[in-house]
Amino acid sequence: MIDRAESARKRDFMTERILILGGTREAAALAKELVACHGTDAVITSLAGRTKEPRPVAGRLRIGGFGGVEGLSAYLRAEHITRVIDATHPFAEQISANAIAACAQVNVPLETRIRPPWQRQAGDHWLHVPTITDAVAAIPQNACVLLALGSQHITPFANRSDVHFVIRMVDPPAALLPFAKHSVLIGRPSSDPIEEAQMLRENGITHIVCRNSGGAGAYAKIEAARSLALPVLMIARHGASY
Ligand code: NAP
Repeated sequence: MIDRAESARKRDFMTERILILGGTREAAALAKELVACHGTDAVITSLAGRTKEPRPVAGRLRIGGFGGVEGLSAYLRAEHITRVIDATHPFAEQISANAIAACAQVNVPLETRIRPPWQRQAGDHWLHVPTITDAVAAIPQNACVLLALGSQHITPFANRSDVHFVIRMVDPPAALLPFAKHSVLIGRPSSDPIEEAQMLRENGITHIVCRNSGGAGAYAKIEAARSLALPVLMIARHGASY
């Protein structure tokens, strides 16, 4: 006689169960696509928990670190994950390295979908800088700078007391910011270059500092800078040669 519980368990093990390492618009779009093919329970998106109110995603959602390679391996086993897709932010290098190690450890296939970097277009005035420290040093005296970086990366710029920083953040800062001259713009960037150009003009921005994240979501500021002939200090990806 067939053991029904056993066959249900086997069926369950054979079912696709996909873990998306997310935190990007592309990861959310992928979750929607995969849920349409495989159903809600088959797709789990994992977020680091860096924003207070993450955008809704299709399928299941889990939030917070796994606890390194060992924690991620344990999670993959416990959730019977059959496939991992790394669709994280290109500067989130630790989780990508952990995914490679954990997937190898538990023998789960890993697909990487990291968006390619933006390429300089005619009319762009980019100065490539390898690190944040180089970006701090490269800002001209008394500039007015849009800092379009993750909030955990802005502190080194506080050394430049001559510069006025306009700091864009998704969530309001938890503590007082250590800048001599600054203003804060709360919210996500607009995807409309005209709105971004208006924001740059209204704030008297003379330079933008950002990372070469790639993708469509944050590109409007680059197009806006091009339209206004504004210089962009572009922080390169680790190991990039451009
Ligand atoms: P990270 O340096 O690659 O990861 C640090 C730790 O955060 C990981 O070891 C992991 O903790 C946890 N983590 C990261 N992504 C995770 C995910 N999708 N699900 C579960 N846990 C995750 O990444 P980061 O500290 O988040 O950010 C590094 C850079 O990427 C920053 O410059 C940030 O601005 C940028 N960025 C990240 C995100 C994002 O969603 N993570 C989004 C936009 C920009 P455990 O070791 O405990 O598993």
